[in-house]
Amino acid sequence: MTKEKQMFCFQCEQTAMGTGCTGCAGVCGKSAVEAGLQDVLTGALVGLARTCQTAAPTAKTYRTILEGMFTTITNVNFNTTTTQAMIDKVHAEAAALSSTPAADYDMNQMWNADEDIRSLKSLILFGMRGMAAYAYHALMLGKSSEEVDAFFVKGLSAIGEDWGMDELLPIVMETGKVNLTCMALLDEANTSTYGTPVPTTVPLTVEKGPFIVVTGHDLKDLELLLKQTEGKGINIYTHGEMLPAHAYPELKKYKHLKGNFGTAWQNQQKEFDGVPGAFLFTTNCLMPPRKSYIDRVFTTEVVSFDGVTHIGEDTAFTPVIEKALGLGGYAADRQVAGLDG
Ligand code: SF4
Repeated sequence: MTKEKQMFCFQCEQTAMGTGCTGCAGVCGKSAVEAGLQDVLTGALVGLARTCQTAAPTAKTYRTILEGMFTTITNVNFNTTTTQAMIDKVHAEAAALSSTPAADYDMNQMWNADEDIRSLKSLILFGMRGMAAYAYHALMLGKSSEEVDAFFVKGLSAIGEDWGMDELLPIVMETGKVNLTCMALLDEANTSTYGTPVPTTVPLTVEKGPFIVVTGHDLKDLELLLKQTEGKGINIYTHGEMLPAHAYPELKKYKHLKGNFGTAWQNQQKEFDGVPGAFLFTTNCLMPPRKSYIDRVFTTEVVSFDGVTHIGEDTAFTPVIEKALGLGGYAADRQVAGLDG
């Protein structure tokens, strides 16, 4: 990041001009301050990984790495307060492992490196960030993998090394290989918990009465919400990436899991406007909520937005439930936009 640019981020397909978000905010709405803090967080995670080279990481260490990496994925965290808290958590974990933890890495070294080195390290970093979300969801269902955990330490450490093409290219290839392992891990976690998905017709009608729309990928959060809303007269609808949940036998058995609301995640600011229901974001698909509906948006896990109510680790969804009951839903059944718009 050069002095005249306040931020630099090119980690997703939304990136400005197809080259990178610079200036005071990204296309996704991430501010330059938040982008800078996410760089600091990544540098702290590199430091934690380097600390693991000389001190044995624990299950808590790996979870901290997953949470930290997940925090930096696109459309997850826009909140400087919670990002700073995550940085502090990473530092605390490094200090718990060693009285002489490794120093944080300055991400500007990577952004300002030779373009080949920057590209190789970016492939490793962005590949691991996506993998962190999968590994996190698997962990929430009690599944983890020594191979995947170990690779986070290896890959993050590599980002901090002054290495060339010969050392970095094999790690890029390994990133792809371990990503497949991680996807298989999540598949196993999902199917062993909720059964093998079956072909399922998903209604697009929102029935009258109170309702909650759940978006993101975290099936565990959806299950907990279904249990907590059972018998309360509230219907549950998936949105965006949560759509596949309908196909899992142990989720579709809930009669109040009614259907899918709206279209793709990037249409949420238009489709959530003025809707008399509550919205729960479990993972990466949050766009800056508009004033017209921010009061009915809730986040959980590592998702966070300043001014939005966050459901903590106890996953007690009472505020979401009360909001849905208070709003009351539609007075009559309503057909919402289908998946083809
Ligand atoms: S994550 Fe946001 S800031 Fe980064 S490239 Fe994507 S749109 Fe731009």
